[in-house]
Amino acid sequence: MALMTGEQYIESIRKMNMEVYMFGEKIENPVDNPILRPSLNSVRMTYDLALDPQYKDLMTVVSPYTGEVVNRFTHIHQSTEDLKNKVKMQRLCGQKTAACFQRCVGMDAFNAVFSTSFDIDKAYGTHYHENFKTFLNYCATNDLVVDGAMTDPKGDRSKAPHAQEDPDMYLHVVERREDGIVVRGAKAHQTGATNSHEIIIMPTISMGPDDKDYAVSFAVPMDTKGIFMIVGRQSCDTRKLEGGTMDVGNSEFGGMEALIVFDDVFVPNDRIFMNGETEFAGGLVERFAGYHRQSYGGCKVGVGDVLIGAAAVAAEYNGVAKASAVKDKIIEMTHLNETLYCCGIACSSEGTQTESGNYMIDLLLANVCKQNVTRFPYEIARLAEDIAGGLMVTAPSEKDFRDEKIGKYVEKYLQGTSEVSTENRLRILRLIENLTLGTAAVGYRTESMHGAGSPQAQRIMISRQGNLGYKKKLAKAIAHIEE
Ligand code: SF4
Ligand code: FE
Repeated sequence: MALMTGEQYIESIRKMNMEVYMFGEKIENPVDNPILRPSLNSVRMTYDLALDPQYKDLMTVVSPYTGEVVNRFTHIHQSTEDLKNKVKMQRLCGQKTAACFQRCVGMDAFNAVFSTSFDIDKAYGTHYHENFKTFLNYCATNDLVVDGAMTDPKGDRSKAPHAQEDPDMYLHVVERREDGIVVRGAKAHQTGATNSHEIIIMPTISMGPDDKDYAVSFAVPMDTKGIFMIVGRQSCDTRKLEGGTMDVGNSEFGGMEALIVFDDVFVPNDRIFMNGETEFAGGLVERFAGYHRQSYGGCKVGVGDVLIGAAAVAAEYNGVAKASAVKDKIIEMTHLNETLYCCGIACSSEGTQTESGNYMIDLLLANVCKQNVTRFPYEIARLAEDIAGGLMVTAPSEKDFRDEKIGKYVEKYLQGTSEVSTENRLRILRLIENLTLGTAAVGYRTESMHGAGSPQAQRIMISRQGNLGYKKKLAKAIAHIEE
């Protein structure tokens, strides 16, 4: 099968029978729901760009396994060039949506499970890698969106999975059958859940021998019996129900997350990629987290490009674009944003081949990348708010602006420079509000902090990978210290 068009993708999701809940109600038609639709549109962009002649070289690649042209989001990285192109593709998608376009979690899960399933087979003579490759080629050939699900609810953080008071706080096997396993548990903060065809489950932490039932990785269709999703709310989400396009800031695109519950879900044997091999759980987490920390050096940079552009437009509309202090703030925003991009490209350029054949990023540099992402978007957002001015949070609603009686006052008193309409001024301010405080702030701000692991998780990896012993030796050699 060829690549899907954006429209075909939307219709393919419409045909699925997912169980979705939001605001205490079952959502019968997530595809046309006004709160969820913008997030679907963001994923759609990954299809539209793949068919656009201008971007197809970046967005698509020939599969080394089937010889077909596939979307890069379903690709196993074959070189450092592939790793760099992944980051460039993510920056592009961020620029075109100004939101989280969700499809990267599946791509990162593909690449992490690819090498891990190979390693497990080598140690135990299992057939996980073949299972995984069959699943991968099915997703690539049919151009599917896959949710990469790692984060368990975790309950009491001081206790291992098997030691939790409630055994379901980490997803686990509750029954082993001849033809497969039955699992129970949940995965939290799941990006793109309602917009995915399939879901890959991975363990969320390193595990010991007693955690056997929790060391499990597999894939199932998102509408498998027993799976249901509870959509997370976002700041200002109900503005999408008001009908206009101004107050939402970005009326076309968005992101979404959900709590996904696995209420005794059956997984057939040929969809299992790990089942009890506890010593491989930590490595899988490290690889997935590493790839996703690289990802942020692309997607957040693309969204940052839009925010920098919005701040510059707001400055023009306010008549202050030529002020040297404003120009310097834009330079600082650009510097910070490009620093993140440098990190994404650097950890890709320094990537190496794994034994399974795919390419892994440089883990130290990927963790440095994500650590910077926990800081720089906050500073970029601060500067954008500084330039925008307080009106971005005090401006009246679109309904007031359009009102017959008071609209003309909103128009008159909120005018900036005379060349620019009040409506356009309000639109750009609402976009900045959306990115820094509204629905997109989930992806641009808080996800920059906690997505792909909280800051401390990167600091642990930086301390492990930093090779301090070697650095101490260097210092002693220069200082002529002999011990
Ligand atoms: Fe992709 Fe970024 Fe969203 Fe993660 S946060 S899924 S890397 S767009
Ligand atoms: Fe993320």
